[in-house]
Amino acid sequence: MNLNELTIKEARIKLDKREISSQELTAACLKRIKEIDGRIHACLLVDEEGALSAARQADKRLAAGESGSLLGIPYLCKDIIMTKGLKTTAASKILENYIAPYDATVIAKLKAAGAVLLGKTNLDEFAHGASTENSAYGPTKNPLDETRVPGGSSGGSAAAVAANMCLFALGSDTGGSIRQPASFCGLVGLKPSYGRVSRFGLLSMTSSTDVIGPLAKTVEDAAMVLEVIAGKDERDATTLPEAVENYSRLEGRDLSGLTVGLPKEYFLNDLDKQIMARLKETAAKLETAGAKLKTVSLPYTKYGIPVYYLVTPSEISSNLARFDGIGWGLAKNEMDNLQDFYKANRGLGFGPEAKRRIMLGTYALSAGYYDAYYKKAQAVRTLIIADFDRAFQEVDLLLTPTTPHPAFKIGEQVNDPLAMYLEDIFVTGASLTGLPAISIPAGLVETADGQKLPVGAQLIAPRLKEGLIFKVAGILEQDKI
Ligand code: GLN
Repeated sequence: MNLNELTIKEARIKLDKREISSQELTAACLKRIKEIDGRIHACLLVDEEGALSAARQADKRLAAGESGSLLGIPYLCKDIIMTKGLKTTAASKILENYIAPYDATVIAKLKAAGAVLLGKTNLDEFAHGASTENSAYGPTKNPLDETRVPGGSSGGSAAAVAANMCLFALGSDTGGSIRQPASFCGLVGLKPSYGRVSRFGLLSMTSSTDVIGPLAKTVEDAAMVLEVIAGKDERDATTLPEAVENYSRLEGRDLSGLTVGLPKEYFLNDLDKQIMARLKETAAKLETAGAKLKTVSLPYTKYGIPVYYLVTPSEISSNLARFDGIGWGLAKNEMDNLQDFYKANRGLGFGPEAKRRIMLGTYALSAGYYDAYYKKAQAVRTLIIADFDRAFQEVDLLLTPTTPHPAFKIGEQVNDPLAMYLEDIFVTGASLTGLPAISIPAGLVETADGQKLPVGAQLIAPRLKEGLIFKVAGILEQDKI
């Protein structure tokens, strides 16, 4: 087995026993990136020198008798998270020359823990999308079938983990962008509760739903990463004060006393038959472990996509207003008039999807339309939150599919924004409500062209119940119960 194929947990044991060094592990990941990323295009930047130097530091700390869950573990980071001294482009032309002047809190925490940053991964521009085809630097391919997308917007991070270029990767999830690529690439992807992980240094998309989280090979690995990156941060007032739990201690294999809800609006008759079958198998495993199943109703589910695609562009139009071409990169055009300068830079710097969202959001927020669109969407969002609150009075956890189908072909939906928006049908609920949710592999389905591809099962829990999610997901991950 090549070192880059190890899980975090396996590598941790080998590092602690001095069977391997962080430099060897890092070199194996860098070699894999060189070997395969010319085809996959998961990385926008590889910092070989920085990674090897961080690995040397980690080896020194290990030699001095230190340990720690992520000490010496190589990872990649979605290029929408600030990394001091390295380019942070959000896969946009408008930031093509932008070098982050400071580290995001998550990066600072990972640095302090001794994790080794290998580089930055591709995404849909500013995280707008579900396929990574909206990147200004070209699409990423799904390593499981290179004619297909890896999902999005954290598609580069998912493809990198699936192709063993790193042991884990950071993604961000605003409306599914960790969970959906995890489903398409056969990985574990966690969207923590809103406010569980600091957004300081994450370029804002939809500030009221953005969360950073891990894409990993196993549930335990995802838990190990969350333990390090979570917590209150004085530089992000929306972070939650509650203590970070010991998520990776996945104790107990017994789910008796637990009730898992199956929301009927997520299991309608038009759900793909094979996905339905994989989810039924997942539900059966929960029963075998002692859980009770219960059908519940989330009646406002059908408004999830319309609400999300009003709230999100509204916040985007406001958050992207700061990119004027002056303070942050680009500034190519010499104009004598400021308005023309802005227009030229924003016209050149933003891709079609970012522009579409700026226009939709500006419209929804304009005087005369605000009440009809933005305000109405926020009111319905409150009803969606109430739906989940009611469901969690009856059940402890919800089980749903993550995606309506497996990974689709590159190019298949790129010119159909509405079809792309509908990709998010099962993931926007947990985003609009700020609830924690995970996608774990639920098995394979066969496509019309005979490909066997993974699909995910999603577990959604009440706020801050990441520990429960990891426990249940950890049990599901084991084949034998
Ligand atoms: N598909 C969603 C969108 O395009 C995902 C966004 C995200 O989570 N960053 O808005």
